[in-house]
Amino acid sequence: MENVYLVLAFYIFTSIEDPQREVKRWKRFLGGLDAKGRIYINEEGINAQMSIAKADASSFYEWFLEDSRFKETDIKVHHHPEQVFAKLTIKYRKQLVAMDKEYDLSQGGKHLSSEEWAKMLEERDENTLILDVRNHYEWDVGHFEGTERPDFETFREFPQYAEDLGKTRDPKKTRVMMYCTGGIRCELYSCLLKDQGFDEVYQLDGGVIKYGLEQGNKHWKGKLFVFDDRLVVPISSEEGGETISVCKQCHTKVDVYYNCANMDCNELFLSCLDCAIEKLGCCCDACVQAPRRRIFEPKEHPKPFRKLPFEEKAKMSLTPSKDVSSSQ
Ligand SMILES: [Zn+2]
Ligand SMILES: [Zn+2]
Repeated sequence: MENVYLVLAFYIFTSIEDPQREVKRWKRFLGGLDAKGRIYINEEGINAQMSIAKADASSFYEWFLEDSRFKETDIKVHHHPEQVFAKLTIKYRKQLVAMDKEYDLSQGGKHLSSEEWAKMLEERDENTLILDVRNHYEWDVGHFEGTERPDFETFREFPQYAEDLGKTRDPKKTRVMMYCTGGIRCELYSCLLKDQGFDEVYQLDGGVIKYGLEQGNKHWKGKLFVFDDRLVVPISSEEGGETISVCKQCHTKVDVYYNCANMDCNELFLSCLDCAIEKLGCCCDACVQAPRRRIFEPKEHPKPFRKLPFEEKAKMSLTPSKDVSSSQ
C-alpha cells in the first residue's frame, strides 16, 4: 500500500489567549480536510497527534506555521498508508499532559539534540540515571539500551517517583537523562526533578520519535509504542528495530498488542496470533469466561479498542484504564 498519509506529532507551549475560540478555529479548518487525530488546546499551548492526507498537508502547514504563535513548532512526521486515528477530536483540555502538580515550565531540564543524547549515552557513568518516563507497556516493546523498566507502572505515578528519587539518590551527584515518546512529558516531569533538587536534568528533545528519525536505531532496542492505530512502529526506516518483547501466553517473540476482549478488563497485552485465537482475544483464562466479552476477530495487526459505549466509559474511569486513547 502506498503511504498517502502523514502522521504528525507536535506540541508547542505558547500563550493562547482564547483557547475555546482556538478550538473552534481548528475544528473549522481541519474539518474541511482529510485529517483525523487528537488535538488538545489550552491557555498554555497545543499538544497534537494527527494524521492527514498528503494532498492536504501543505495547506495545513501553511495555515498552522504562518501563525506567529506556532511558527516555531517542531513537527515530527511519519508516513502511513491510512489514517491512524478513528476520528478527529479537537478540544480544550485543562492539562496538556495529565499531571496533578503545579509546575513552572521555565524550570525544566536542558534539551538535548538526538546527537547530544547519543553522545551522553555513550559517555554515561555510574552517576548517570537514564529515566524512561513512559508506561510499562511502552517500555516492553522498545527502549534505550541500558535503561531499566520504569519503577512506576504508568507515568502518572511519576510525581511520587520523583519525590522518592530525591531521597534515594543524591540530587547533587546524579545526572538525570530523561526521555519519552514525543518530548512533552519530559517538559513537565523534568520540572518535578528540579524541584527535588536535581540540578543536572537533561531531556531528549522531540522524544524517541525525533531521535529515531535522526539517529536511526542507534542505542535503541526494539520498537516504539505509539498512541494511535499503529500501536507499535519501528523508530526508523532503516533496517533493524528487532522484536524484543514476548507473547504473554507462549513467550514467543512478538510485539503485537491486543486490548482484552473482556470489556470489563480491556487490558493491553502482547500476544501472538495463535494464542490470541485460542484465548478468544482475552488476556487470561478468567477473562475468557467473563460475561461481557466482545466477539474476537483475528487480525495480524489489531487496532486498539477505543469505541466504548458511554456506560462503559463511565465505569472505566473509576479504575486504572489501559485505554490508549486517554494515555497521553
Ligand atoms: Zn503465543
Ligand atoms: Zn483480560
